[in-house]
Amino acid sequence: MRALRYEGPATGVVLSRSTPEPEVREGEALVRPIKMAIGAADVLMASRKPDVPPVTMGREFVGIVEKIGNSRGAKEKGPTLVGKRVVASSSVSCGDCDLCQRGLAGHCRNRAVVGVFGRDGCFADRVVLPLRNLFVVPSDVDDDRAVFAEALSSAVHAAQQLRLEGKPYITVIGDGVMGLLCGQLMNRLNAAVRVVGSHESRVDLSAKWGVKHRLERDVGRRADQDVVVDCTGTAEGFDLAMKLVRPRGKILVKGMIHPALGAAWTIDVSAIATKEIEVIGSRCGPMGEALEVLKRGEVDVVGLISKRVRLEDGVEGMRIAGRGEAIKVVVEG
Ligand SMILES: [Zn+2]
Repeated sequence: MRALRYEGPATGVVLSRSTPEPEVREGEALVRPIKMAIGAADVLMASRKPDVPPVTMGREFVGIVEKIGNSRGAKEKGPTLVGKRVVASSSVSCGDCDLCQRGLAGHCRNRAVVGVFGRDGCFADRVVLPLRNLFVVPSDVDDDRAVFAEALSSAVHAAQQLRLEGKPYITVIGDGVMGLLCGQLMNRLNAAVRVVGSHESRVDLSAKWGVKHRLERDVGRRADQDVVVDCTGTAEGFDLAMKLVRPRGKILVKGMIHPALGAAWTIDVSAIATKEIEVIGSRCGPMGEALEVLKRGEVDVVGLISKRVRLEDGVEGMRIAGRGEAIKVVVEG
């Protein structure tokens, strides 16, 4: 079958035509992706070429379940899923370790991330996923919307982590997909929200949603924001967040680029103590709730799709996403 593979630092990303179809084991499902989306992790992997084991890329998709692993568990849950349209959480946990047992499956000691490490991803003709990672898509959420469920779940989680008092000032740094999703979601809270980014073209898009958007160069560093949500993943973004947040304010960190991907984390964090800043880390979120948000039409995700490519042209799609001019690149089977 076809698979868009990361083959290590020397080769980078290639479209393989001879990847064996994955085997479906007990507790798993074979899924045919219909639409996929290139995410931040894919772009980083393709552009920074880390020294990590080869893997089929891709963690954001909507697809059809074709087959369930033959097992006792399958008899209970499996048959009802065959033929269903699903999305999947990309974090695969073992279910057995102490953290899984304590309800922290997202932080499993044996965690794999679909399409990044430990588990082949969805940029392929078929992908195998654990049944417990799958979520059936409501019929009134179309494929273009459903393909955003994984990214949106992360933004939903971030919005839930903010425990707001009064009507706070919130700045979201970063006008990529995560920043624009967080901006839209948080704008629905009782708060004065602005997105700070570097793309003039995204100001109009934000205006359409009624979300304030400022260019980074125009924003004063007055340390007057109650909450700053950093969606850049970079040292520069976190540094800016520390300059914008007020004393005793909160910074929510929506992912940080790992040093294995070439990020240089050499910044002065002393302001965390001197300004008594509360720093909150934020990662994956609830897929079921993201699907509900999509069903209720609370965010515009289709407006974020700026390019569509075929899986055949996946390598070029990765280049387009990496250049940053497209907000979201959707890959179609
Ligand atoms: Zn575990």
